[in-house]
Amino acid sequence: MKIGFIGLGNMGGPMAANLAAAGHEVTGFDLAAPMPEGVTKADTAADAAKGAEVVITMLPNGDILRKVAAEIIPVMDKGACHADCSTVDVDSARAVADQAIEAGLLAVDAPVSGGVGGAAGGTLTFMAGGSEEAFDKVKPLFDIMGQKAVHCGPSGNGQAAKICNNMILGATMIVTCEAFALADKLGLDRQAMFDVVSTSSGQSWSMNTYCPAPGVGPKSPADNDYKPGFASDLMLKDLRLAMQAAESADADTPLGEAAMELYARFVEQEDGAGTDFSAMLPRFEKRGHG
Ligand code: NAD
Repeated sequence: MKIGFIGLGNMGGPMAANLAAAGHEVTGFDLAAPMPEGVTKADTAADAAKGAEVVITMLPNGDILRKVAAEIIPVMDKGACHADCSTVDVDSARAVADQAIEAGLLAVDAPVSGGVGGAAGGTLTFMAGGSEEAFDKVKPLFDIMGQKAVHCGPSGNGQAAKICNNMILGATMIVTCEAFALADKLGLDRQAMFDVVSTSSGQSWSMNTYCPAPGVGPKSPADNDYKPGFASDLMLKDLRLAMQAAESADADTPLGEAAMELYARFVEQEDGAGTDFSAMLPRFEKRGHG
């Protein structure tokens, strides 16, 4: 298949390389990043999109997505599909999909989970919004870049699934870290705490799979000096998108808001920028009740 790939950074680079390695003809464009192996360089986003059956974008945010979409949608062939895999606000995802559909294209918003390791290893999870026809067209590509693709409903629902998931993740990570710091002060051994909670009703992915306490549970960024992993800055971005969506949909999300405020303080005023999002535990260790 002829594929255009725009945004070849930490995630897009290895995703495009996996498509090329599987035998697809991939033409790429990025303002700064180098071309991954097997990907032909285009001079503009429009050049990468022209003549492609599927154009994939993997960009930093909704404003940049809207700008790139305005360059590629007018030059794409009718019936071709735009698949945006970036994490962006639901409103931008829906606006860009509407433009594509009006221009006679298919459109999918398909943010991913699995991080840079998942992108390199081809083990991402895709959560997709769009028509059945659009999803079916790009599903074989999702199967190369990932291990699972879930069709979540119409345009925007992929982004909705992503931010709801990450709102749960942010809040459970914070409370898991709080609980470890409380357990320390109560004289409860961390291993005992893990053994109980990971098999009791307080369990979650944050405790069982990505335990924030070094030396406890499976290997995680806590065992590597809290190097990301999934950076606190990216968690903050996703929590802000969740709160933006909650406001726009008039949903009451008090714990999501508290999680966003805490990550904002951690990243912007304390020393959390560039650390893994589980570095909330050393943050709480240093603090008392007042
Ligand atoms: P990145 O900053 O490494 O890559 C983004 C790329 O887009 C950069 O190479 C940049 O040069 C390029 N770019 C910016 N504006 C452009 C334009 N106008 N035209 C062409 N290229 C342009 O970011 P990343 O880590 O690859 O993340 C990409 C997206 O994936 C983000 O939306 C992020 O939230 C999401 N995501 C990231 C992770 C992760 O762990 N890194 C996990 C899941 C989802």
